[in-house]
Amino acid sequence: MYKLGLIGHPVQHSKSPEIHQYFLNVINANGKYELFDVMEEDLEYFLNELKHSDMNGVNVTIPYKEKVIPYLDEIDEHAQMLKAVNTIKRKGNKLIGYNTDGEGFIDSLRYTYPKFVKDIKDKTVLILGAGGAAKGIYFSLKKLNPKRIDIANRTKRKAENIVSENNHLVLALEEAEEKLYEYDLVIQTTNVGMEPDKDNQVIKLTHLNRGAIVSDIVYKPKMTKFLLNGKQQGARLLFGESMLWYQAAKSFKIWTDQSVEKHLKID
Ligand code: NAP
Repeated sequence: MYKLGLIGHPVQHSKSPEIHQYFLNVINANGKYELFDVMEEDLEYFLNELKHSDMNGVNVTIPYKEKVIPYLDEIDEHAQMLKAVNTIKRKGNKLIGYNTDGEGFIDSLRYTYPKFVKDIKDKTVLILGAGGAAKGIYFSLKKLNPKRIDIANRTKRKAENIVSENNHLVLALEEAEEKLYEYDLVIQTTNVGMEPDKDNQVIKLTHLNRGAIVSDIVYKPKMTKFLLNGKQQGARLLFGESMLWYQAAKSFKIWTDQSVEKHLKID
């Protein structure tokens, strides 16, 4: 019997219970995935209880990906570098932190556009946003060695803190909007466009190259205004929902040691 869950605030609209219940069915195991809406003042108490519980682990979402770190016993190298944890595994009375967001994004890109990933050394990438998810995606993408990864963010200082190569540029959102034709892949990682803000998009895609890939990691709604604009410009699309499935499969593997990646429901 696997006991899994999600901590965050708010959590009630999460798709994770549905995804992990499906994974449990795939491996033919009993278990449950519960939502824990935890207030910040209760976070330490919750994690201490988790340590001494019979739960296998939890996912961590906004606003606790960084705040859980002081209460963990170990953190894997990748999560340590990102200073953000989205998956906690209980091992005995120890809590171990991981982060599967960046690698989940790369897997979704590789699954949908394998040739793009194969040729990535000649490709330029723009990340819009410089929050936790952007940071994970930047470092996972960097390992693939694309020609350039630039970051544009409302608060430029946050993008400057992520970029770690001299030839990678930091841009204001307005500059990025004007220079979009320079990029083969544009990844939208801000909260803009996420329900209930679904009528907004962080920048317009007027100057995009036809055939570029436009990705939005926001998955509610599936077709964001940003993606719809990309489609109108002749772009190929990558949906946030597929990253959601891949990062979930990686968390599930950490807890159960079982691979479910061949069974993801991505259309
Ligand atoms: P975060 O750390 O809070 O970062 C939020 C980012 O959005 C920052 O760059 C912030 O800019 C920017 N932003 C927020 N409001 C903005 C606005 N009105 N105009 C311009 N920029 C704005 O959040 P996160 O953890 O990175 O998550 C970001 C989004 O990704 C969320 O919608 C989340 O649901 C989604 N996500 C999806 C997956 C998936 O599997 N598909 C996984 C993780 C996250 P400033 O720095 O200027 O504040």
